[in-house]
Amino acid sequence: MKYTEIMVRYGELSTKGKNRKTFIMQLAQNVKRALADFPALKIHADRDRMHILLNGEDSEEVIPKLSKVFGIQNFSPSIRIEKEMPAIRAMVQEVVREVYTPGKTFKITAKRSDHSFELDSNGLNQELGGAVIEAIPEIQVQMKKPDINLRIEIRKDAAYLSYETIRGAGGLPVGTSGRGMLMLSGGIDSPVAGYLAMKRGVEVEAVHFASPPYTSEQVLQKAKDLAEKLVPYVGTIQFIEVPFTEIQEEIKRVVPQGYLMTITRRLMLRLTDAIREMRKGLVIINGESLGQVASQTLQSMVAINEVTSTPIIRPVVSMDKTEIIEIAEKIDTFELAIQPFEDCCTIFAPPQPKTRPRLDKAQDYEARLDLEGLMARALEGLKITEISAETAKDKQEDEFADFL
Ligand code: ATP
Ligand code: MG
Repeated sequence: MKYTEIMVRYGELSTKGKNRKTFIMQLAQNVKRALADFPALKIHADRDRMHILLNGEDSEEVIPKLSKVFGIQNFSPSIRIEKEMPAIRAMVQEVVREVYTPGKTFKITAKRSDHSFELDSNGLNQELGGAVIEAIPEIQVQMKKPDINLRIEIRKDAAYLSYETIRGAGGLPVGTSGRGMLMLSGGIDSPVAGYLAMKRGVEVEAVHFASPPYTSEQVLQKAKDLAEKLVPYVGTIQFIEVPFTEIQEEIKRVVPQGYLMTITRRLMLRLTDAIREMRKGLVIINGESLGQVASQTLQSMVAINEVTSTPIIRPVVSMDKTEIIEIAEKIDTFELAIQPFEDCCTIFAPPQPKTRPRLDKAQDYEARLDLEGLMARALEGLKITEISAETAKDKQEDEFADFL
């Protein structure tokens, strides 16, 4: 079927009262960015819906990209028809012939926004229901949950016919909730945490701690690749690499074994918070899941979290590993995440980290460090790169060039 437009129904933003306009504008911008590869498209957003005019672009390529944009409840690809009954009847018949298989039921859902049109919605329902039965005499009408729901809408400019409703990504448009710094390791949990924060409208920047030569170039690349997997949901991600080697060596030198993990995490959090302030972020997001490992017990959270009063969002805190993996598979980060490269924490991890660290001890041990100097040097060495669909494409082309 040659669709001419896609009608988009907004998600939760319809309940947002005064903020509605901001939400719709942000969504329109995000849709534009997600569909930048289709230059002929035209997007019109109004109070209740968004209309994407395809102008000849292929709906089958547009739909998968649109399905990833947060803030959309569902959408219906539709066909524009001249506002004349014979043309509408003919198109209804053509569509039903194409989608009908024996046993399927149908109904017509007509809506007339243009009140000057010759038939009202009841009249349209009857007339077009008749046209369907004329095309397929054995087809049954069913009002509740029909297999085929033919929606016809008479608008000012034309009539629109649709028969599929595709579920959108839900959530809120990315950017409407402000900015957060995602602590992105190379693991399974943090990309999922980032995805879930974005789903609630947070614009995410990725902060990654690297400790070369203890951690390899591959771990860094893996973290970047994971960030890239999140790009379709946001358009672009700033990837912030923090040089962490000196700090880890220093911690290892002055802190007793049992507290290495706690102090390392405190430093990571301090640095992420400093970066958040520089980048005008509001919150920090991480992939901690309660009880998963030693650093993620409640006692550890108390001993680590104390370094900042910035809210820390932990989207996967109460999920089981299997639940997190389910989402990782859905967003295609799982395969990448399980590649076995050492990350900066595993290398310096003591054989037996304290699962119940004491806050007062953590403070004492941390005081042995030259915090100010260490942090200043790490912040001077930040490397910020933008990861976008374009970088992903360039990379693909490079790989292809190698292949040739
Ligand atoms: P993940 O699967 O996200 O790596 P994990 O279960 O392995 O999590 P930890 O290694 O204890 O757990 O890390 C807990 C959280 O700390 C991570 O989810 C991430 O948000 C943050 N984190 C850990 N290592 C790094 C790193 N090298 N760079 C940035 N953030 C990190
Ligand atoms: Mg990890």
